[in-house]
Amino acid sequence: VPVPRSELRGALRRELEHRIRNGRCVYCRAPAAPDEPLTREHVIPRARGGRRKDLRIIVPACARCNQTRGCQEIVLFLLARPRRLTAFLDYLATLPPEVVREVDLRVFAELYAALGLLAECAARGREWRSHLEQLCTGRRLHRRRYAARRLLLALDARLERVRGREHAGPGCLLPGEAEARRIRGMERSCGELRASLIGVLSLMWEVPAERVAREIARETAAWEQDPGAEECPAEVVSLDGWKRRGRRRPQGDRRRGRSPRGRGRAA
Ligand SMILES: [Zn+2]
Repeated sequence: VPVPRSELRGALRRELEHRIRNGRCVYCRAPAAPDEPLTREHVIPRARGGRRKDLRIIVPACARCNQTRGCQEIVLFLLARPRRLTAFLDYLATLPPEVVREVDLRVFAELYAALGLLAECAARGREWRSHLEQLCTGRRLHRRRYAARRLLLALDARLERVRGREHAGPGCLLPGEAEARRIRGMERSCGELRASLIGVLSLMWEVPAERVAREIARETAAWEQDPGAEECPAEVVSLDGWKRRGRRRPQGDRRRGRSPRGRGRAA
């Protein structure tokens, strides 16, 4: 029996309210205090196309982190202190599955892009920060963000068909050798962080984690055959919303603007 969307949205609202009063900051893990609840942090800021009341892009953050970030690109804010990325992934991993399913796909895409950059930088050892700067200059960062969105959108459309048919949830993904690298001072390797994101995605799509990993590999391999695939339309650089991405709008995208993955979801 499909669960009405209003009910799912209600679950997200309740969870957010609970975390704002009793949870921890999504970036620095500072706890909410009885006299000082956390703030509503927009992962996609209004200045970059997010909407103020859109619960699907809101996470709990302490006033300090919220203010420090301002409307900086989330990827850059996370990578400035990579522990923020770990904290963010832990936040998502502790959300109930029905709430994870309500989170905007763009939020996952930003994390995916950040993890990709982190993995590349980890290979540079001590010089990872200067390498990160190079990787993010000009339109490079936006190309990656766009590629991450496209990837997740493609998977979203494909996995919609198999949703709930296989055993869903995080599996035991074994990181490859390259993924065992870590940034100095980080407690977890890039592969472990990636496995954590894939686990969350598997809950969202209601498929096994191994399936998500396989589909990602398949999709990225297909792009490597297509030289134009990672090209970034100018719109995505100037404005951050789905709706302004211009050409190649996939089917169902318009509806997705309001309800990211909500076609007749089974209870
Ligand atoms: Zn904080």
